[in-house]
Formats: sequence, C-alpha cells, structure tokens
Amino acid sequence: MCPQKTDIRDAIKLNIGHITQSGLKRVRRVHDTPQGPVIRLNNKNLINFCSNDYLGLANHPALITAMKQGVDQYGVGAGASQLICGYTAAHEKLEERLCAFTGRQKAVIFSSGYMANLSIVNTLLDRADMVLGDRLNHASMIDAARMSRAKFRRYRHVDTVSLRDLLQGCGAEKKLVMTDGVFSMDGDMAPLPDISLVCAEMNAWLVVDDAHGFGVLGENGGGTVQHFGLTTEDVSLLMATFGKALGTAGAFIAGDEEVIEQFIQSARTLIYTTALPPALAYASVRALEIVQEEKWRREHLFALINQFKNGARELGLPVANSDTAIQPLLIGAAEKAAETSRQLFEKGINVVAIRPPTVPNGTSRLRITLTAAHSEAQVDQLLDALCALV
Ligand SMILES: *Cc1c(COP(=O)(O)O)cnc(C)c1O
Repeated sequence: MCPQKTDIRDAIKLNIGHITQSGLKRVRRVHDTPQGPVIRLNNKNLINFCSNDYLGLANHPALITAMKQGVDQYGVGAGASQLICGYTAAHEKLEERLCAFTGRQKAVIFSSGYMANLSIVNTLLDRADMVLGDRLNHASMIDAARMSRAKFRRYRHVDTVSLRDLLQGCGAEKKLVMTDGVFSMDGDMAPLPDISLVCAEMNAWLVVDDAHGFGVLGENGGGTVQHFGLTTEDVSLLMATFGKALGTAGAFIAGDEEVIEQFIQSARTLIYTTALPPALAYASVRALEIVQEEKWRREHLFALINQFKNGARELGLPVANSDTAIQPLLIGAAEKAAETSRQLFEKGINVVAIRPPTVPNGTSRLRITLTAAHSEAQVDQLLDALCALV
C-alpha cells in the first residue's frame, strides 16, 4: 500500500480557510430576473453595471421569439457532436452568415469561447513551434498555450517591442501570436495594426480573440479588426463569442477554408463534445442580423461611454485608459474594492469587484460595463454613487 502524505479533504479545508480569511472567497449570487439594465437580487432592484450584454440583446424580444422558433423546429438538445449527428441547418446557416459578416472563407462553431480557444494552439502548432500571448490575455488563451505541445512565451501588455524581441531569434518552426482584441478586465484595445506588422515581419500568424469587440466596435459591429480597418491577411484567424454582445451563447473561429477544415478534422473541443443546441444557433443568426440592422445600439452605447468617462474624470475617479464598454476603476487593495462594491450595492447599484487571481495583486478594481440598454439617467446615478465613495 502506498502511504498518503496529505489527505485531499484536509488540503481543501486549508485552502478554503485561507481564501476565506484573506477575503477572496467568491460567491455565486442567485439571480432570478433576465439580464438587463435592472436586475433583482434578494428582492432588491439593482441597476446592473457588470454584464457583458453590451448591446442589450440577451433579453431582446426578437431573440426570445427566434429561440422559441428554433426550439419548435429542432427541439432542445443537439443530441450528439457536430461530426456524429448534432450539426443542423441552423448551425450551417449561422456559419454562412458569420463568413459573410467577417469576410472570411469559412467559419466553425464551438459550444463556448473557452473551448474554441483551447482548440487553437493544439490544432495549429506542434512541439517545435512557439505561441506568444499578451500578459493580460484571457485565461482561456493562456490555458490553450499551456495545454499544447508548443513553447509558450508572454510579452508585456500591448508592447510590440517586447513581442518583437521574443519573436526574434526564437528558433521556432511555426509562430503564433494570440491576443484579446479588447482586454476583458482593462477595456483597452490591442494595437492590432502594429502587432500585425510585427507578425508579418517575423513570419508569425496573428489570432485575435474578439469576445469583447465583436458586435460592439467597427462601423457595422465587425469588431476590433474592422475598427482598425485591417484585412483578413493582417489577422490570420478570428475568434469571437456569442455570449457577450450577441446575447446568446457559443463561439466561432473564422479563417481560410483549409485552416478551418483542419479544426473540423482535429479540434478535440469540437469533436468530443455535444454540439451547441440548434435553437441557440438559430437565435444567434437573428442576433447577428440585429447587430447589423440596429446601429443605434452602438451609437447609444458609445454616447454612454463618453458620458461616463467625462463624468468620472471630472470627479477625479481612477478611470483606466479605455474607450470601450469596459470601464474599470482601479482601486488597488482587494478589500477596498470589495467594500466599495458592497456600498454601491446598498445604493442600488450592482458592480462586482474583480480581485486576484483574475487580475494581478494590488490591481483590484470595479469592472464597470455599460450597455446599449442603459439610459443616460442610469449612468448619472452611477456617477453620483461613485462620487461619494471612491
Ligand atoms: C468570455 C471570454 C471568453 C470565453 O467565452 P465563453 O463563450 O464565455 O466561454 C474567451 N475569451 C475572452 C476574451 C472572453 O472575454
């Protein structure tokens, strides 16, 4: 018999005790209203400034109708993976619409953005290759790199000099650079024009995860790549999710025909998982239409972003360098961020504190997100409440 040194249960107890003592224990609060500018928690109405429902589509009547139609047509579950018998005409139509919208040859749907990202490095790279990521990349991209056979290096946040240094003389056969289009906890955009130049010069592929830009940025919601006027050659592969601006769930990767074919042939998070429920694909087709038809949503959102930034600056609040719907206020200590969040809650405003390990130590923040469903009056209420607290 192999004697065990530590009991698993004891180790867990110790860990939970530590998290609780340091004030970093996370709780899942129970909500019972749809996503929207006002939600209810513990019988208290709160103006909600923490969802990623940037265009206010998660509870849009047209999407609710589309989802119901999708269920009527296809039932609830997909029943199998895409390669067995779970791939429907709804999935196919969504992929076609995504190609048209992004100007790319082919797209493939994944059940979530996390799973889409996990597939990227392993599908494209091997042992002799290298993947580079921004230090502040989303956890799913970091995990994708860690779980792959390729070497992994992280460059300083939005720093193309640091990126270039790492690419130069790295000796790898194939090179892949991965970045958020809009950084999820900071709201700043990756300098994609500069990054794509470095990639071209260094013969590396650029992959952009545009979870927070897709639907929000660019003339017709095409995202960060469209915002910067880049081509499909500048950015080899585009990944984005449906769970944020599109208000549904799931994700896609789009690129050249044979590259996407390779994902269908070998991406384990596509092959060994049940396909996205068809009704969700069906509803996402409608969401993509609304993104293009209702330009006013982006215009209103950006008016609110300006209102918030100007107001926050006048009040001397610790605003970040962000022009997007993600407007973090840097607080610093985890306990202070949590306390400020509690005080806002008392004033009827929901802003969750983001603390380590999601963000680096000493950079705890209030991650405020604005959506097209908010009103100017609600943003004023937020500023009034913050003014007295921060
Ligand atoms: C939310 C998010 C993901 C994960 O997408 P899901 O569909 O929620 O799994 C991936 N990347 C970024 C940058 C995100 O913000």
